[in-house]
Amino acid sequence: MPRKEKKPGNTGAAPDWKAIFSDLEAWRWDFLAARTAGGSDTDQADYNPTELDPSVTALAEKYRRDPWAVLVSTILSLRTKDAVTLETSKALLGKAPSPEKILALTEEETEKLCYPAGFYRTKAASLRKIAAILIAEYNGAVPANMDALLALPGVGRKTANLVLTEAFDMDAICVDIHVHRISNRTGWVSTGAPDITEQVLRNILPREYWKRINALLVLYGQQICRPVSPFCSLCVISSRCIKNNVGKSR
Ligand code: SF4
Repeated sequence: MPRKEKKPGNTGAAPDWKAIFSDLEAWRWDFLAARTAGGSDTDQADYNPTELDPSVTALAEKYRRDPWAVLVSTILSLRTKDAVTLETSKALLGKAPSPEKILALTEEETEKLCYPAGFYRTKAASLRKIAAILIAEYNGAVPANMDALLALPGVGRKTANLVLTEAFDMDAICVDIHVHRISNRTGWVSTGAPDITEQVLRNILPREYWKRINALLVLYGQQICRPVSPFCSLCVISSRCIKNNVGKSR
């Protein structure tokens, strides 16, 4: 029986996006700065985004927004802990910094480099198929186009949106489980699936915030608005949140 979908839409007055993003940006900076050596020195020179914020956004910065690196790390990140994504991305991209190089590896070597990312065999196989398609159809380049990305094996909307924003600096909204959860709790949307959340956000979120929402809410969702018992007492946007479907909180 098909899953009953909540009626999509937002849940009330237009959010004050400027204030919300300003508060989230300030929180992110304070959080990352506090995690630098010594914990209290906010000198930006100490800020190592990849070690402190091992999201695909930080990996994209590490690899200077190289589209192949962003695509590889995004695929490796699916259903995989951040620390593992970081290590496997470094290991694989160290040996396979281009589609040609990954095909120069054997299947077994590719799988070993993807381990212990979740579903590492499937991901290794997808990446090799993707590499072959990129070489055959795009002269070895990653296409900067949603439909072309979605046609690649193992690439869904989340991956395609993240590649467009992080590698090509294009306006797109990457909705992962954190963006979906927080958007529903705050009342910005009322949806039952990430793809629907993306559709609604595309209608209500000013374009200038599209590229930032993923990086901000992934870290916020890991640290503050956690799936179980979020830290609402520490939340910088609590006065703007309706806490929809939040049971226990701290
Ligand atoms: S108030 Fe609580 S539920 Fe709302 S965004 Fe903050 S942490 Fe999440």
